[in-house]
Amino acid sequence: MKYSNKYIIVGAGSAGCVLANKLSEDPKNSVLLIEAGPMDSSYSIKMPLAASSLFKSKKYGWGYETEPEKNLNNRTINWPRGKTLGGSSSINGMLYIRGQADDYDHWEQLGNYGWGYRDLLKYFIALENNQNHEDQFHGNFGPLWVETYQPILDASKEFLKACAEFGFKNNDDFNGTDQEGFGQYQVNIKDGKRFSAADAFLKPISNRPNLEILTNTLVEKLITLNKKVVGVKISNKKFSGVIGCSSEVILCGGSINSPQILMLSGIGPKDHLKKFRIPLIHDLSGVGQNLQDHLTVNVSYKINELKTFSELMQPFMMIKNLYEYFLKDTGLMTYPASDIGVFFKTNLNEKTPNAQIHFAPGAGEYKKNGAMRPSSGITASICNLRPDSRGHIELQSSNPGVAPKIYANYLDKEKDIKHMIEGVNKIREVFNTPTMKNIEATEIQPGPTYQTDDEIDSFVRNESLSVYHPIGTCKMGNGVECVVDQNLKVKGIEGLRVADASIFPSIISGNTNATCNVVGAKCADLILSNN
Ligand SMILES: Cc1cc2nc3c(=O)[nH]c(=O)nc-3n(C[C@H](O)[C@H](O)[C@H](O)COP(=O)(O)OP(=O)(O)OC[C@H]3O[C@@H](n4cnc5c(N)ncnc54)[C@H](O)[C@@H]3O)c2cc1C
Repeated sequence: MKYSNKYIIVGAGSAGCVLANKLSEDPKNSVLLIEAGPMDSSYSIKMPLAASSLFKSKKYGWGYETEPEKNLNNRTINWPRGKTLGGSSSINGMLYIRGQADDYDHWEQLGNYGWGYRDLLKYFIALENNQNHEDQFHGNFGPLWVETYQPILDASKEFLKACAEFGFKNNDDFNGTDQEGFGQYQVNIKDGKRFSAADAFLKPISNRPNLEILTNTLVEKLITLNKKVVGVKISNKKFSGVIGCSSEVILCGGSINSPQILMLSGIGPKDHLKKFRIPLIHDLSGVGQNLQDHLTVNVSYKINELKTFSELMQPFMMIKNLYEYFLKDTGLMTYPASDIGVFFKTNLNEKTPNAQIHFAPGAGEYKKNGAMRPSSGITASICNLRPDSRGHIELQSSNPGVAPKIYANYLDKEKDIKHMIEGVNKIREVFNTPTMKNIEATEIQPGPTYQTDDEIDSFVRNESLSVYHPIGTCKMGNGVECVVDQNLKVKGIEGLRVADASIFPSIISGNTNATCNVVGAKCADLILSNN
């Protein structure tokens, strides 16, 4: 192990893998990438349909959950996060979505020069190896495999028909000119296997002599001298101590762990650190604040005749599915989180889509261990894309092995519940089309007793879940609430940047993984151009 590295990257996740790749392109840069979790060798990581079995995994995940959420009837909500090479991209739903141009133009309007859509589009294109689209929005030569998922089950094809009948417009590329409409999701799945950030950006270059990857190693805190970061304190089975850094440490630990590491290192809200007797290095009130996430609720229907996950996952059928998968890498086991999507406006006042549907030809509920228990039916989940509510992360202990407390604060703002109710009503209209009547779609959740706005309101509060997109806890920008500047440098501290979902100033209108890849790539450019 080298004890003085030019760059130390904390976390081999969606952003960290890209950053490690780009910084180590130049053999003069020695890069140490430290990951708390193990290698990503489990078959549950590779096989797309097995993803939910990892949600509560202690080996490959952090298994977080929120504190009781006051606006969700004090329910705690599961917040899985990946802890392995690839980070959360190794356990996620594999959907490839970039959000809307306006999301990034808004970041730029907040004062983050160089983060507008035009600037970031070139990163999306450079990273991408798209198999289906060749145009000004897509790249076909980058490391990240992207393909359009072809629905296997007829139930999904019927849902596509119903969307057209309802009047949604057909959109064959949610990442192209316009996000609005219904269509098939693009996914990070290659030859039937998950294609994580580690598969795209780390594995092809892991033998570079100037890149060292330490797995199963927790970064406990940063070591600072006169407000400059000079190393990290780590622990693993063989070693506990400090590793020096000659240039910069970059935190890529994700929206929960990056603010936690900052606070454990004495960088954060002064009074909060005092409570845990953590010596103050720099008072930065925004650390852990500005938390946003996407909330979703499942609307499910029983249907007649057509097969859904539940019938195809009966023991005998599962043997057949697994056999097909191991033999040909095809079939049910290749299913991502959702195959059909819709982006739409829940009311006429919205300029761009403010809601997203994740459709799947299955229904079910999450068991206590986080895995999905399938039941007969099909599901359209409605997600409010731009919630106004903000939560925060705070320490529970000064011990780095103890999870921080998560207050998502869902539905704190009136508009957020209003959009969820409008979304549920819209899904019901789609299921009221002749195509859905033809397959005898009968609502099972929320069900006929939930009709008025008040009734749907209570359904949402009782049943909603996270889409697992936390962002914003080390917000980028200029205000006092911001933690990093537009160059991702931590304010008031030298030699330290943050590059992961925590720097998003506001949540994007869609799934967050591709944007994290871009944050990693942009951070590398900022570092290498001395910004
Ligand atoms: C279950 C699930 C489903 C999702 N589905 C989708 C989807 O379909 N499409 C999509 O676009 N997005 C999806 N997302 C969201 C997306 O995957 C995340 O936004 C993205 O992966 C976050 O990237 P990141 O770089 O911020 O952090 P992560 O990818 O979470 O990486 C952080 C890494 O840092 C490591 N780390 C943390 N603390 C330390 C420490 N102290 N020491 C050493 N290492 C540390 C972690 O172990 C982890 O590997 C999903 C997320 C989840 C959890």
